[in-house]
Amino acid sequence: MAGRRACGYAVVMNDIDRRTFLAAGATAAVPLVLGTSPAAAAREARGWRPRPFAAGPVVISSGNGLPAVIKAMEELKRGADPVDAVVAGVTLVEDDPNDMSVGYGGLPNEDGVVQLDASVMHGPTHKAGAVAAIENIRNPAQVALRVMRRTDHVLIVGAGALAFAKAHGFREENLLTEQAREAWLKWKENLNRDDDWLNDEQHLERDARAEIAEQLGIPWHYGTIHCAAVNADRNLGACTTTSGLSYKIPGRVGDSPIVGAGMFVDNEVGAAGATGRGEAVIQSCGAFQTVQHMAAGLEPQEACLKTLKWIADHTKRRSLLTSAGRPNFNVTMYALRKDGAWGSASMLPGGTFTIHDGTEARRLRSTPLFE
Ligand code: ASP
Repeated sequence: MAGRRACGYAVVMNDIDRRTFLAAGATAAVPLVLGTSPAAAAREARGWRPRPFAAGPVVISSGNGLPAVIKAMEELKRGADPVDAVVAGVTLVEDDPNDMSVGYGGLPNEDGVVQLDASVMHGPTHKAGAVAAIENIRNPAQVALRVMRRTDHVLIVGAGALAFAKAHGFREENLLTEQAREAWLKWKENLNRDDDWLNDEQHLERDARAEIAEQLGIPWHYGTIHCAAVNADRNLGACTTTSGLSYKIPGRVGDSPIVGAGMFVDNEVGAAGATGRGEAVIQSCGAFQTVQHMAAGLEPQEACLKTLKWIADHTKRRSLLTSAGRPNFNVTMYALRKDGAWGSASMLPGGTFTIHDGTEARRLRSTPLFE
């Protein structure tokens, strides 16, 4: 897949607004905060120029994060802290009943109960906060922020997280919208085939599940919003919030609230986040790994690809592999470096991300590791 990478850059660069790219020529002489990898040096020798990076604030988010990057950028320009800016951004998506991957209107677990996961991290203090499997609170990212600021803990789960949120004045409400309830009911009708309690044989049938759901028109599977920002002072903040895997076993926690898996910030280096199959991201410490790759000198997109390659190399279960031996699930990684450089890559085609460079917000394709 190394050959694919060179194409990947071309794909993304075609998508980049031409004015922004030309502006990059002007900034290309500015030294990068971090070292250049031999791979990047080789590409530059072939005429490739570093991805443009901004002098001002930059916000990156998952494909469903267009309103989030716009809001977060407004907040940053008003002088908000990056972690407050990204939480303000994702709150809009958590509140949107039509985004069934997060917050209010998110798809429920197998019992028809919406359980949400979220985490936040503040670069300058290296503090983190998270909640997992929290019920009846539509903005788990804001609760995660309280965990970070108002406790000595990092992660609070389940009933404890709900009690904590209520103590902080969050309002309890039913998060299951009619749309999500109907989707869940439809799924329930196919329960034997589609539940998460699998024996060995059923594991092998699992591939077909997403296809069946698609044929039946049942909203299915993964969905999350990740958002990370760097402000003009080069401080970072990040957040990931989700309703997690749809129809999951109650209590199942994905990667989103796990610091280092679904989200991580090192204020000296950058931020990273993930969406997609949370189990794979937890098993790879995906966001931490991606930040480490940037610290070692990789460009953000290369760092994302390297983590995805690591996940692919460590995926051993037959039910998770195609006949060609490649993962049959998607994971999308997002990376934002301290200097404002950004990138995203996905395991399979179809991943997208959004970016706001201070001038405009755009939605771009993530570079796939596998075709
Ligand atoms: N990563 C999330 C989880 O596994 C879901 C997603 O991103 O779609 O809970």
